[in-house]
Amino acid sequence: MYINGEWSRADNDAGLDVFNPATGEKIGSVANGDQKDAARAIEAAARAFKSWSALTAYQRSEYLYDAYRIMMERKEDLARVMTLEQGKPLKAARNEVRYGADFLLWYAEEAKRVYGDTIPAPRPDQRFIVLKQPVGVVGAITPWNYPVSMVTRKVAPALAAGCTIVLKPAEDTPLCAVEVFKVLHDAGIPGGVANLVTARDPGPIGDEFISNPLVHKLAFTGSTEVGKLLARGAAEHLKRISLELGGHAPFIVFDDADPRRAATGAMLVKFLNTGQACISPNRIFVQRRVIDDFVAEAKARVEKMRAGNGLEAGVSIGPLVGPAAMEKVERQVADALELGATLVSGGRRLTADGLDRGFFYAPTVLSDVSEQMQIYREETFGPVAAIIPFDTEEEVLEMANDTHYGLASYLYTRDISRAMRVFEKLRFGIVGINDINPTAAAAPFGGMKESGLGREGGREGIAEYLETKLGGFSI
Ligand code: ADP
Repeated sequence: MYINGEWSRADNDAGLDVFNPATGEKIGSVANGDQKDAARAIEAAARAFKSWSALTAYQRSEYLYDAYRIMMERKEDLARVMTLEQGKPLKAARNEVRYGADFLLWYAEEAKRVYGDTIPAPRPDQRFIVLKQPVGVVGAITPWNYPVSMVTRKVAPALAAGCTIVLKPAEDTPLCAVEVFKVLHDAGIPGGVANLVTARDPGPIGDEFISNPLVHKLAFTGSTEVGKLLARGAAEHLKRISLELGGHAPFIVFDDADPRRAATGAMLVKFLNTGQACISPNRIFVQRRVIDDFVAEAKARVEKMRAGNGLEAGVSIGPLVGPAAMEKVERQVADALELGATLVSGGRRLTADGLDRGFFYAPTVLSDVSEQMQIYREETFGPVAAIIPFDTEEEVLEMANDTHYGLASYLYTRDISRAMRVFEKLRFGIVGINDINPTAAAAPFGGMKESGLGREGGREGIAEYLETKLGGFSI
């Protein structure tokens, strides 16, 4: 753990072992922290808040620039740790480190643009000035699927705004978080400003974030279920909260688009991180006239993908995170096949050549997917592309919006008017239009409906860590 600028074991000195999901081998161990450790970290953050928030934006910005530079110098090492710990192919891990570092750079810049307002007042002797000030100590919780960028996406805007932070990473991927905090330490960020508490049991740490009056804001990325739990707790104390939760992205292909190009894009984004992403397409709607071409291209693409250990060249499909993830994928596929879906490719666990040591599932394409199947409603978080035919724009908009999630969505069309119409009507926080990667540190990321509250990245991302204060002056 990293508390008040010092690395330490947990109070109870118990270890939390970390395993390689591709091989099952133990690759390290970190402190198994508990509620007392979280409380200690929060106290350190509260003490550091006074001096950190009093620095100029230029001073805070310098620290973040240094952290960016150091992270980029360590890109290769960090990417290797990520592949070992999380399983994604090395190339994808490098991309994630770059994306993670981008948040440090972007918020180093944005720290200097926390502008207030002056407002015309109703009385001649009156003046209104609006200040933006940091909310205070932040309790942050991050998931295992993007173990570096989800950390910097919270730490960078929080620190830029003048907040201090205590972060609890996912129990499956604490080593990546440790590496990120080494970067922050080596950038000279003062003790107590950014603290890391690793733990096997997240519940007590979350409880401390909720109940400790020194914490003023919670930032969470993970499942909708746990997000709601934290939101309920935060409501009790009226704490600020931002949530990045699950998704069930529609991917719509109209028949004026090139079906092969669309299939290439759909398969790339679907199988990124083995489908373990909240913006992964879960329902791929293809207009009937082009569906055969789309399915043929999808099949060809998928059959070229190789599953395996992410350290090996040519591997693009890593392991699933664990047995529960495997059971969910197997259950959804079995249910879909039973209810009439067609298996185009894959559809089974992979066990040959040592793959049985991890949880590998063949990249899978299902066509003729329909509304009554589990996969149509439930987030998959695995390598299954579910293809659904449709006839009209009106019909597909209705189907796409018919979900309690509202994070990412995608559409392929060459008709500019249709692109604009559908963009406006989709009830999702992110819409990729002929684009499978509508994300960047400078752009607001987040969901509507049960996909979350607030946005990360962009101008909106720092606003989550700022209070608005009005000064009314009589002169
Ligand atoms: P996932 O399905 O991605 O594992 P979770 O929501 O279970 O999603 O996990 C995301 C993060 O939330 C992890 O850091 C995990 O430790 C944490 N977490 C899980 N349960 C709780 C809880 N009851 N209180 C606080 N944090 C939790």
